[in-house]
Amino acid sequence: MSKLTLDRIEASGLRGRTVLVRADLNVPMDGSRITDDQRIVASLPTLRHLAGAGARVVVLSHLGRPKGKVDPAFSLAPVAARLRELLPAPVRFVNGSAGPDVARAVASLADGEVALLENTRFLAGDTDNDPRLAESWASLADLFVNDAFGAAHRAHASTSGLAEAVRREGGRAVAGFLMARELRFLGGALLHPERPFVAVLGGAKISGKIDVIEALLPRVDRLLVGGAMANTFLKALGLDVGDSLVEDDRLEMARELLERAGERLLLPVDCVVAPEVAEGSPTRVADRSGIGTHDRIVDIGPGTRSAFSEVLSLARTIVWNGPMGVFEVDAFAQGTLAVARAAADACDRGATAVLGGGDSAAAAERAGVVDRLTHVSTGGGASLEFLAGADLPGVTALSDEG
Ligand code: ADP
Ligand code: MG
Repeated sequence: MSKLTLDRIEASGLRGRTVLVRADLNVPMDGSRITDDQRIVASLPTLRHLAGAGARVVVLSHLGRPKGKVDPAFSLAPVAARLRELLPAPVRFVNGSAGPDVARAVASLADGEVALLENTRFLAGDTDNDPRLAESWASLADLFVNDAFGAAHRAHASTSGLAEAVRREGGRAVAGFLMARELRFLGGALLHPERPFVAVLGGAKISGKIDVIEALLPRVDRLLVGGAMANTFLKALGLDVGDSLVEDDRLEMARELLERAGERLLLPVDCVVAPEVAEGSPTRVADRSGIGTHDRIVDIGPGTRSAFSEVLSLARTIVWNGPMGVFEVDAFAQGTLAVARAAADACDRGATAVLGGGDSAAAAERAGVVDRLTHVSTGGGASLEFLAGADLPGVTALSDEG
């Protein structure tokens, strides 16, 4: 079920061809200012390759949630301006997402020119996966490249719908370089991990990540659990977690998972606690059996940091999702930073470490280890669904290899 990827398409055949690229240019904005251009930068290799080969490149993306209506606050115009600075090719912004004006603009493109269309979600048909909208885009394309891994978990007209429409017309829908990289690293870690294979899970809730735990549990040699997710497990063991964030409706499930996982699942042995989850709140290290009635667990403790780091130092494959504590507050960030460093150190010794999840990616950035990790997914929710073993519609709809 391997998918056709852009590197398999003969570059010499691309000159003068119209190539539609679904990118994930959904960057965080403050007004019309882009506050983090990581997703734009991550899309460049595919765009540079296509424009460099002389293709006429038409880029589709969503930005935010404009709810199917034109809303200038969600215009991609600022993204076009940033693309213009980053790409060697000429970049044009088309003030429309579909229809005759767009078709005319596309027809007037020069070889090697890039056109970014306006936000696909200005049209309700995108998230509704309207086949007519998908067909209207497909009719413009000689080739469709889906590079929007971050949107691949949704069946929308500009993702899976467009891929299906292109294939119905006998064309090819392929994974772009970024999409291919995400699939190679996330998929490789899951399917062919070098052992020991260690997963680190954390973050706010068990409930949003049950499928990830379920999918990883039978594959891993060790599962390290931190963050608020650990609190529910600690409570399930009968420990007092004070006023910490806990999911009481998941205690039974936590007990069942603990039983099934046995010694493979490692929980914190100590915690950093504070009276409030707030900047400036005084902290204390508590053994996990010594948490006070009014304590809130805000991070894993120093004993757990060393225990987790030691396990990671022996790992050959690491999958990490979810911070170990409320890392947004400096005083509660030590556990997350320690795991980030331990994973990066393991990579320096030749291990493979892949990181999924939006907040986790921010934590890695903060720890300054992004370049040392094998792969930091740009995918957010899509990376979690992929790790949970879900089929991503945007991937499934692509042409098969061979
Ligand atoms: P990701 O986006 O990487 O998948 P999540 O969204 O699941 O991660 O979780 C990140 C959030 O979990 C962070 O905002 C962090 O503050 C919070 N968190 C982690 N540990 C705790 C804790 N002990 N108590 C409360 N919140 C926590
Ligand atoms: Mg998150």
